[in-house]
Parts: sequence; C-alpha cells; structure tokens
Amino acid sequence: MARTDAIILGGGIVGVSIGLQLVKRGMSVALVERAGIGEQTSYGNSGVIEGSTVLPPAFPSSLTALARVAFKRASEANYHLSFLPKVAPWLLAFRAASQPDRIAETSRLNRPLFARAVGEHEPLLLESGAARYLRKTGWMKLYRSELAFDALTLEFDLAREFGLPLERLDAEGARKLEPSLNPVFKRAVFWPAAASLSNPLAVTRAYAARFAKLGGVTVKGDARTLHRSGSGWRVETDEGGIDSSEVIVALGPWAPDLLEPMGLKLPMAVKRGYHRHFKAKGGASLSRPVVDVAGGYLITPMEQGIRLTTGVEFAARDAAPTPVQIDRLMPALRGLFPIGERADDKTWLGSRPSFPDSRPMIGRAPGQKGLWLAIGHAHWGLTLGPVTGRLLGEMMSGETPFCDPVPYAAERFLA
Ligand SMILES: Cc1cc2nc3c(=O)[nH]c(=O)nc-3n(C[C@H](O)[C@H](O)[C@H](O)COP(=O)(O)OP(=O)(O)OC[C@H]3O[C@@H](n4cnc5c(N)ncnc54)[C@H](O)[C@@H]3O)c2cc1C
Repeated sequence: MARTDAIILGGGIVGVSIGLQLVKRGMSVALVERAGIGEQTSYGNSGVIEGSTVLPPAFPSSLTALARVAFKRASEANYHLSFLPKVAPWLLAFRAASQPDRIAETSRLNRPLFARAVGEHEPLLLESGAARYLRKTGWMKLYRSELAFDALTLEFDLAREFGLPLERLDAEGARKLEPSLNPVFKRAVFWPAAASLSNPLAVTRAYAARFAKLGGVTVKGDARTLHRSGSGWRVETDEGGIDSSEVIVALGPWAPDLLEPMGLKLPMAVKRGYHRHFKAKGGASLSRPVVDVAGGYLITPMEQGIRLTTGVEFAARDAAPTPVQIDRLMPALRGLFPIGERADDKTWLGSRPSFPDSRPMIGRAPGQKGLWLAIGHAHWGLTLGPVTGRLLGEMMSGETPFCDPVPYAAERFLA
C-alpha cells in the first residue's frame, strides 16, 4: 500500500497546477485521473489567460435580452426546458449576484487571483518547455452598437481602480490590430494585459510532465473510491490503494459526484459550452482571441485552426449535446470574419463548473478533516489553475497565503 503526503483527485489544469506547487514544496504527491491528463474541460476552452477580466458574466438585466434567451433566439445562451426546475435555485442566486453592487464586490474579491494569473503561468510555461504556446497579445471584445459600448461604465471604472490597461477603439482602430475582421461592429475594447494559449491541452500535459519530473506520480483511478481509512483517506487506483492524510478535490464539473454522497451539497451548476475548429478563407488570420459580445461567442487562433467557442447552455452535465447556439451565431460570425470550411469533424462539449457568485472554491472542505477543495472555476479555470495551485500550496504548508482565502471558502454557502 503506497502512502503519500497528498492525493490530488482530477488531472485537469487545476489539479495538475496544484500538483506542481505541492511537489515544489517537497511533498510526495499522487495525482489520480480516470481519463487522460487535461483531456476534459481543460482541453476545449478558449485558451484565454484572462488576467484582465474585470466583471463576471451577469444574468440578463434587460427584458429584451431575457426574452431572446427564453424564446431560444439568443446565441449567447441556451437551456434545456426539462432542466430549468432543477437549476432554478441556482439561477435565482446568480441573478441576485448579478446586481451592480454585488457584481462589483465579486470583481474586487476575485481580483487578487486574476492579478497573478498571467504571472503564475509564465514561469510554469518556461520550466515546462511550453512557452511556445503563450501569446502575450491581449484579447479584444467587439460591440455592435454604441449602446452596448456605453453600458461599460462599471467595467471601465473598475479597470481604472485595478490599474488595468485598456484601449477603447472604433472599428478602424480594431482593424489595425486584426485586419481580417470586417467592420460590422461599432466599437471595441482591447485588453493588452491578457494572454492566450494556442493549445491548452498541450500546456496541461507539459505541466503534468514537469510534475512527474519533480517527483509527482500520476495514476489511473476513480476518485469515487475515496474513503476514510484510519485517521486519513484511501483511494483505489489501477496501481493499488493509496493512503494520505490530505486529499485535494480538483474534479471540475465532476466534483459533486464525490462530494454529494459525503453529504457536502454545494450549489454548483455547469454552464455548458461548445467548440468547433474552422479554416480561415483567403489567408485571413487572427493574432488573439476576439469576442463578439452581442453574439456571446469567441474566435481564437489555435494550433488546430480558428477555434469558435460558444456562450453558455444550462442543461444537465451529462445530457446529450445540443449545439444549437452554433447555428444561431454562424451568420454573425460569417459577417465578421472570413470563416472557411470545418477543420474538425466533431463538435466538442465541455462544462464550466460554476458557483452562482462566480467565485471559485479554494480551501478546506467543511467537516471533512484533511479534505481540500479546488473547484468551481467556471469561465476561468485555465486562467486561475496556477494561481489556485499557489494559494492552496501556501495554505496546506502553513505559509502566509498571498491573499485572503476567506472569499473562496466553502463556508460562504453553508451559513
Ligand atoms: C467553451 C469553454 C470555453 C472556456 N474558455 C476558457 C478560457 O478562455 N479561459 C479560461 O480560463 N477558462 C475557460 N474555460 C473554463 C475552463 O476550461 C475550466 O474552468 C477549467 O478547464 C476547469 O479545470 P478543472 O481542472 O477544474 O476541470 P477539468 O479540466 O474538467 O478536470 C477535471 C478532471 O477530473 C477528472 N475526473 C472526473 N471524474 C473523475 C473520477 N471519478 N475519477 C478520476 N478523475 C476524474 C476528469 O477526467 C478531468 O480530467 C472555458 C470552458 C468552456 C466550456
């Protein structure tokens, strides 16, 4: 029977990043993954390291926007009708957290994590030999009406408060950065401090290889076999049982499969999202991720081609894919960028593991000695993986955490 200082459950970007921080602190670590490293949510995302993210997504505030979603006309959001009763409490909590004062509070509480996001990735990319995937070219958001642009006051105010650089552009200014975009939009905001990756899967794999080089062990196993053993924990793996007093849950959207049977019911919902890859027509290209805010979609250059990612879909995590948002947004995308034929034959579906207050959960699991949580990273798991690893590493080894971890504690939902 093997014994380690820590067991990490889940080999996505969050689990792998935590593994790196723990082995660097001299701990022996086993990372338990049932599929391939980085092949789930951490594979198909948009690859943005959103260091300059200011506001979390909000519940629609205008009746028109809500009606478009309700009548399934919107490309930015979709839902499965049969799932609505189940997700209704989460949606109500999300709507409450979307009020301007609450959303500004969330923005400030999440800021310490976002502020270090790019800075935590950079050294890991270098030491893992993966720096070639990093683009420090920012990202750009496009607005199709002056009205939409004028609604950004809170975002601009907070950006100023946080000292974040941004450039307000008209269509011609935006086309100087991205000449292949057609001027179907009125305004744009360029956020130069964001970065992006051209292959998130390759990066997570490179971090895992670095983890192994530093002595970490990756084993195949099912996290749901975790059980109490003596004063600690044991998980069964293909290599046999592994014992440890410390276990970190980094199972992304699958965390409830383990936690709910233990009696830890947390308000996590998934915001599903899709991607497809396309070729660009006639030598068109992109240098950075671009968001068409009205359509709620993003296009970004990846090694596989131009990756299109969609907004959110509220449906059961394991329900069959329904990529209707892609059909709804394609006319807008074709008008914006000379998109060519498909560069893949499969539409990818992933699930953003999300809490209604748009904060991740990083810290001890209440009432479960030795169990730690690193879950609920929603739209920003790629961004926040390494910084989550740092925070948890500092907390577990008794160092002074670089920021106050209280806003990310599970207790906020258990009062
Ligand atoms: C369309 C889309 C676009 C996105 N774009 C961005 C972006 O641009 N920037 C950004 O920062 N974030 C983005 N995200 C969010 C980001 O991808 C996620 O927040 C992040 O990948 C979550 O990482 P994770 O390690 O928590 O989860 P995962 O990557 O899902 O890892 C969890 C791991 O646990 C494993 N697992 C599950 N159950 C078990 C079990 N029983 N036993 C053992 N192992 C198990 C899984 O196989 C998986 O490997 C996007 C998400 C989507 C869907």
